[in-house]
Amino acid sequence: MKNKRVLTRQQKKQLLYEKFHSLRFTVWLYFSIFMISILVLMWVSFVFSLERTYRVTKTRTILDTAQYIVNEWNNDRFTTEQLDKIAHDNDMCVLIQDSYFRTMYSYDIMAKNCLIHGTQGFFNLPSLRSAVFNSENGIYYTELENPRFNNNTLMFAMLIGTKEEPKGYVYLNTSLEPLDSTTEILRSQMVQITLAVLIIGAGVSYFLSKLIATPIVRIKRSAEKMGQGDYNVNFNGRGYTETERLADTLNYASGEISKVDTLRKDIIANVSHDLRTPLTMVKAYAEMVRDLSGDNPEKRNEHVGIIIEESDRLAALVNDILDLSKLENKTAELNISEFCLKDKLEDVMTRYTLLSEQQGYKFYLSAPAEITVKADIIKIEQVLYNLINNAVNYSGDSREIYVMQLVRGRKVRICVTDTGKGIEKELMPLIFDRYYRAEKHKREVIGTGLGLSIVKQILIRHGFEFGVQSEQGTGSTFWFEMDIVSETIPESEIEVVD
Ligand code: ADP
Repeated sequence: MKNKRVLTRQQKKQLLYEKFHSLRFTVWLYFSIFMISILVLMWVSFVFSLERTYRVTKTRTILDTAQYIVNEWNNDRFTTEQLDKIAHDNDMCVLIQDSYFRTMYSYDIMAKNCLIHGTQGFFNLPSLRSAVFNSENGIYYTELENPRFNNNTLMFAMLIGTKEEPKGYVYLNTSLEPLDSTTEILRSQMVQITLAVLIIGAGVSYFLSKLIATPIVRIKRSAEKMGQGDYNVNFNGRGYTETERLADTLNYASGEISKVDTLRKDIIANVSHDLRTPLTMVKAYAEMVRDLSGDNPEKRNEHVGIIIEESDRLAALVNDILDLSKLENKTAELNISEFCLKDKLEDVMTRYTLLSEQQGYKFYLSAPAEITVKADIIKIEQVLYNLINNAVNYSGDSREIYVMQLVRGRKVRICVTDTGKGIEKELMPLIFDRYYRAEKHKREVIGTGLGLSIVKQILIRHGFEFGVQSEQGTGSTFWFEMDIVSETIPESEIEVVD
């Protein structure tokens, strides 16, 4: 059985709204409006200006024809057949008289109902002739009503020869109104054209609206899929430059969102793992203190010590997550100031005295020149701690850590070197990523997996270059470079030339 979706009234309304506001419908609507406007314009001009246009055109034709007849007559080049044709083609009555008013040529299309050949005295030729003589250039024309047909006609007369030596007269009379049959033919043609334009236009506008909207509709469908969480969707904007660019941008954005999404999932997995492990330990050791070692001070101290250690680990992890998120969101403002790098390095190194005394680590600092740099001193201190802590954690059995300050032109490079087992070449580009660990969750090594990501963010925010050089079995050197503001070379380093 077919599962029919029952829509609520609101949903139906929404669907209808979307349909009538869709790009395809809108394009189709605009095309149709355009087409109908043209048709309306055509009809308006047909109804209102047909007569006017007809009259103007006809008058111009008659004037040209009369001029032509007179020229040809003067040159004796006319034959009756030629004149018949002209009269017939232009739908007019023609009368040519010589200077003694004898008829030389006559063409009557209205069976004596025109104003020239008419027997009912519609117009008298002598008064027309005197009008010709009185005119400036021997031409006289006027609009007159033909009472027989109740229509407007153009009455035209022209002198052949000159006023001093008249050779004859040409009279023309023609209707200035289109014949009913002509109007009817035009109207029926207009109806046919209108119907054809409506049918073809509807089809063409439907096709065009589809053609224009298709790439956008395709992109919309892909965007809907992406909205539902499918970030591997491909946007296809083939058709126009703009939609192609839009699709490229969306493909890039979906790729980036997909990366962020994977990262988010990784982070949640890692953070929950990293939080869960110390919490499990804290719970387990707390239970042990309660049930087993509560009365045994030695065991109890050992277990409480582990609880404290794990709590520290938790606190460090939470702090690192907060620091990193602040740096990445750019909410952590940099507090830039000038300070002496040598002093800072010495200050940091003193904090490791306990470690060197208790666990036999050896720290070497080489910072001969007093160099002033410009940076956020707290953040640079954090970079140094993270790098030195890593060197301590990964220095292996040699337990030797070297911190060096090297001047390279207008820059000073700080190197933190250990003699541990180093990092594999392929892993080097990855270790600055969040939660990347070469050896997955080695519990004996203290670390949150965020240390180098924090270093990277701080150095990027400062615009300082950084990197790592490492060889397996030999050790690693992590470095970063700062701009030198000023430099004082100690006296012992200055060579005295005699
Ligand atoms: P962690 O808390 O794991 O030390 P970091 O971001 O500081 O996190 O470092 C990421 C990874 O880079 C470490 O897990 C380790 O595999 C590698 N690493 C960092 N410093 C060193 C070093 N000095 N020697 C060898 N490996 C290192």
